[in-house]
Amino acid sequence: MSATAENTFDIVILGGGSGGYACALRAAELGLSVALVEKGKLGGTCLHLGCIPTKALLHAAEVADTAREGMQFGVKTTFESVDMSGVNAYKDGVVGRLYKGLQGLVKSKTIDYVEGEGHLVAKNTVEVAGRQLVGKNVVLATGSYAKSLPGLDIGGRVMTSEQALFLDYVPSRVVVLGGGVIGVEFASVFKSFGSEVTIIEALPRLVAAEDEAISKQLERSFRKRKINFKTGVKFSGVTASGDTVSVALESGETIEADLLLVAVGRGPVTVGLGYEEAGVTLDRGFVLANERCQTNIEGIYAVGDIVPGLQLAHRGFAQGIFVAEQIAGLNPPVIDEMGIPRVTYCDPEIASIGYTEAQAKEKFGQIQTYEYSLGGNGKSQILATTGFVKLVRQKDGPVVGVHMIGARMGEQVGEAQLIYNWEALPSDVAQLIHAHPTQNEALGEAHLALAGKPLHAHA
Ligand SMILES: Cc1cc2nc3c(=O)[nH]c(=O)nc-3n(C[C@H](O)[C@H](O)[C@H](O)COP(=O)(O)OP(=O)(O)OC[C@H]3O[C@@H](n4cnc5c(N)ncnc54)[C@H](O)[C@@H]3O)c2cc1C
Repeated sequence: MSATAENTFDIVILGGGSGGYACALRAAELGLSVALVEKGKLGGTCLHLGCIPTKALLHAAEVADTAREGMQFGVKTTFESVDMSGVNAYKDGVVGRLYKGLQGLVKSKTIDYVEGEGHLVAKNTVEVAGRQLVGKNVVLATGSYAKSLPGLDIGGRVMTSEQALFLDYVPSRVVVLGGGVIGVEFASVFKSFGSEVTIIEALPRLVAAEDEAISKQLERSFRKRKINFKTGVKFSGVTASGDTVSVALESGETIEADLLLVAVGRGPVTVGLGYEEAGVTLDRGFVLANERCQTNIEGIYAVGDIVPGLQLAHRGFAQGIFVAEQIAGLNPPVIDEMGIPRVTYCDPEIASIGYTEAQAKEKFGQIQTYEYSLGGNGKSQILATTGFVKLVRQKDGPVVGVHMIGARMGEQVGEAQLIYNWEALPSDVAQLIHAHPTQNEALGEAHLALAGKPLHAHA
């Protein structure tokens, strides 16, 4: 089939998730012709099976806890129960409204939106629904799927986040396999909804990618919330019978539960899509791309979860925008992966940017750290939350890591990312005024202290 004008584009994008659609929107804005190919729902994992629905569940969980804890603030409230049909209607409503908005946004641009499963059939060609879309540039953005372990089949009461998002009942006992971001977020939701929860994590600590102090504080908080967890323990198998699952550990212990949630990470969606045949270099299924998101094949780019690194929606957005600008000849500055903010939305929330203490020591040698307790922060006292802001700086140099934990601390990551990305010195931040009483003050106070002039803190 020869290329016709209506099938030839400046960019053909395979996958309409965070990375793909952001690339399409920015490319269209820059006057490039774009085809966006999506086999499922525009918006991808983040909108339909990830960020948005999970955060709606976490908000419902917070409401349940608020109802339980009213008396702590002198307000007489009682918690009755969680109605999952109501929770799902609320969650689906949020997703539905955003989905409609996104569809309208894509429709309003000069983007050729093509529904169907696409395959890369040549370096510059994606075949979909009987059409051959030829791109001067091709962007691979096919995202990720929930992984399992060898021999661990998903089905029935053994599920991943993809099924757990649609539960129509609150299980009384849940085992969560995996203490990473998705695992601890679901554990937090289930606990607030009334389930008895046990997390199994093979690594020595929960949220092992975070600074060690954050893991310790999260573990303390989870203990207080009576969320059980076993770290440094390996899963060995599960048997399901009737309404229960029996989860076996290598230690010989077994745990009975209503369901097993498998949250052991996400793998790249790259198999059978023609990538390898086109000569694109893959590593364990991930597409390798350089700092300009280019693969080893000229004219083929890759963005989002298929590229090794943080699997976060806003990384996908940033890479998608980057590629559009790169193709348009704007020569955008490369993305600093360490400058991508990370938030884990369990209760308490975790927010971080830059290097952990251990990573900073390895990279910069001499460093200084400071931990400001939320105990000294008025707004955190009002909210009855505990936690801290931990700063890591190069000795006599800029702040290279900010690590925060406590209720609502995710909202503080905006300033933290400016501090890291603008390579601020503690003294630069110390002279900025932080509104009182806010949790944001804790960031200000931590920098005041690190600059040698603590206010509501001991030096
Ligand atoms: C439970 C959960 C919670 C999460 N929470 C957060 C969060 O709070 N914050 C955050 O930043 N990130 C979060 N994430 C991660 C976030 O969802 C991903 O990082 C993001 O969606 C990646 O975007 P992407 O474009 O690379 O891939 P995806 O969003 O997976 O999109 C890929 C798209 O490509 C399509 N596709 C695949 N193959 C083909 C093909 N052959 N033809 C056509 N279309 C194809 C798919 O249908 C999909 O729509 C969460 C993920 C999960 C699972």
